[in-house]
Amino acid sequence: MNQVIKKNFEIDKTKAKRLRSMGISGLFLQINKKNEQSSSKTPQNIDNLNIKEVKNIVQECQSCELHKTRNMSVFGEGNENAQIMFIGEAPGKDEDMTGQPFIGRAGQLLDRIIQAMKMKREDIYICNAVKCRPENNRKPTVDEVKSCSSFLDFQIKKVNPKIIICLGLVAAEYILGQNDKLKNLRGKFYERYGAKILITYHPAALLRDPSKKKLVWEDMQIVMKEVGIDV
Ligand code: SF4
Repeated sequence: MNQVIKKNFEIDKTKAKRLRSMGISGLFLQINKKNEQSSSKTPQNIDNLNIKEVKNIVQECQSCELHKTRNMSVFGEGNENAQIMFIGEAPGKDEDMTGQPFIGRAGQLLDRIIQAMKMKREDIYICNAVKCRPENNRKPTVDEVKSCSSFLDFQIKKVNPKIIICLGLVAAEYILGQNDKLKNLRGKFYERYGAKILITYHPAALLRDPSKKKLVWEDMQIVMKEVGIDV
């Protein structure tokens, strides 16, 4: 768990009590009461929680400014034993209203890509780099991604995918730890988190520029070959 979460996690006493009942008492929650001291939580503490428990934490999270304008946080969902994990940028309007990832137009396009890969959505795990919607769908800032990164790291560790597909530069820059143009990063595997990492365009970019669909399909064929699906 990073320092930002330790420092900024504000939660009322009732919520803290509920989280304590889940076995995370006295950890990294900063109780919103004068003179009450919070104790620290190490990264190992969150690693020992299960996905549902961390999802509950995300629902209450106030570690960055994005919590102020969200309707719902969007933790992510899918097969917790998936071979393939997709990581997008941030929730959009539809996702913010429902708490589900990738259900708007871009999500529907992603569903078609997954079907073209001869898989179902239930076969994969899908989440975003940040769990709360930036206003007007702006790009999340580096600090916002950093604030939320403990949750993403947790998801990657729990799912332990063979392949991580970063949809767009926000996820790519965090996972790879390097900045470059997407066209330079796509089309090959990298190694991080004990997984093969592939960078490709976000489905929203394909909606804006359909000529990129061909490139994404080339990238998905690389993934299909790697997991043994006939192309
Ligand atoms: Fe917390 Fe992440 Fe939402 Fe920021 S975006 S408030 S760090 S869950």
